[in-house]
Amino acid sequence: MTQYEERVVVTGGGGFVGSHLCERLLREGFAVVCIDDFSTGSVCNVEPLDGHSGFQLLEADVSTGFDIRGAVDAVLHLASPASPVDYLRRPLETMRAGSTGTQHALDLACRKGARFLLASTSEVYGDPQVHPQPESYWGHVNPVGPRSVYDEAKRFSEALTVAHRDARGLDARIVRIFNTFGPHMRADDGRMIPNFIRQAIAGEPLTVAGDGSQTRSLCYVSDTVDGILRLLWAPGEQGPVNIGGIHEMTVLATAEMIRSLVGSSSSIEFVARPQDDPGLRRPDISRAERSLGWRPAVSIEAGIKRTIDWFLENSILLGS
Ligand code: NAD
Repeated sequence: MTQYEERVVVTGGGGFVGSHLCERLLREGFAVVCIDDFSTGSVCNVEPLDGHSGFQLLEADVSTGFDIRGAVDAVLHLASPASPVDYLRRPLETMRAGSTGTQHALDLACRKGARFLLASTSEVYGDPQVHPQPESYWGHVNPVGPRSVYDEAKRFSEALTVAHRDARGLDARIVRIFNTFGPHMRADDGRMIPNFIRQAIAGEPLTVAGDGSQTRSLCYVSDTVDGILRLLWAPGEQGPVNIGGIHEMTVLATAEMIRSLVGSSSSIEFVARPQDDPGLRRPDISRAERSLGWRPAVSIEAGIKRTIDWFLENSILLGS
């Protein structure tokens, strides 16, 4: 039987980012326990890992509690609806995943003497008034707006994580992830990249919110995963640390790039902009560069091409 040096629990491991994390950890020789209720993720994302002797799948809702037998060296807490379509459809579940779900993941780390890492988000900065956003910026969040179920759940998760670091001596780390994209995103999750790819492949109009001048800074998933793992093992850094792309693009330019890479003749259709949609979004990554030696390595164009190829190979996900 294979001996694994360390055992890592990944909550939300059946989702987009979580499944890439599980795969990378297994490749590096860690044993992985993936906990997911598959409310927004898909078992298809982890099916290829199922035959691996170091992989264990536990179907459970982190908000109702869970336990793991045996030693655990690290707990990575990603379980939460993450796209606006998902968290607006599941507002109470989103708040529970961020509150009691985070509490249960922290309790597990404390019981096992494991280190803990929280997947937080650039959404803690809200619609930012400081640009680019450094970790020291406290944010501009509407606590009663429609997005608050996600933004405030993540802000609470961060506070709860820091409280466990201070009160219980837990080695707890926080990563603030900015817009990440790549294979394993659901075609219908409503996020910009899968939306534009699905529409361009189907020959439908690409729906751009507002006039499309709002910006996003995209990061390919392998770079995000690399940043998360560097933070998990970093000797002198617990965060929060921003992990995200530095190449800022307007939403309209992103739609035009995807349309051209797909080779589609779709039109662009301007639709109403959601309430509290951030106008500008770009991380200040100097902390990640300084303390983790991290910078994104995959260009936006190369990442988008890989993502388009994956969507084409998995056209069943597009409903075609
Ligand atoms: P995702 O929806 O693909 O993955 C989340 C996973 O968590 C899904 O598999 C879902 O089924 C699972 N889940 C949700 N609630 C659960 C619960 N109560 N119990 C057990 N499992 C549950 O989303 P993602 O994009 O992979 O995001 C993963 C994490 O990274 C989230 O915490 C998200 O907030 C954070 N994040 C992602 C991005 C991004 O651009 N992808 C940006 C910022 C932060």
